[in-house]
Amino acid sequence: MDTSSHRRFKVFLRCEHAERLLSDATERKLCRAEIWRLRLHLAYCRACRRVRRQLDFLRRAAHQLNDQLETGDWSVPGLSDEARARIKRSLEHAD
Ligand SMILES: [Zn+2]
Repeated sequence: MDTSSHRRFKVFLRCEHAERLLSDATERKLCRAEIWRLRLHLAYCRACRRVRRQLDFLRRAAHQLNDQLETGDWSVPGLSDEARARIKRSLEHAD
């Protein structure tokens, strides 16, 4: 069995290359060839699709945090009103 036949097709990225492109994509614009090869890779590679989802999630979380920093909205989703009131009280009585 000839496992080296893959090498002839440069369009097929290796996972480590695909992952690098995915993380590059968060910092710079990929060129057409890179996007095309990445898409092709994601079409058949489940592991890298999962990596992409994780990166998407992190990017969204970072955006959300950025928005909060800009708007000064420090309300934390998931923090109950009760817990918030308790924090507020302890801040008021801090001095
Ligand atoms: Zn892959």
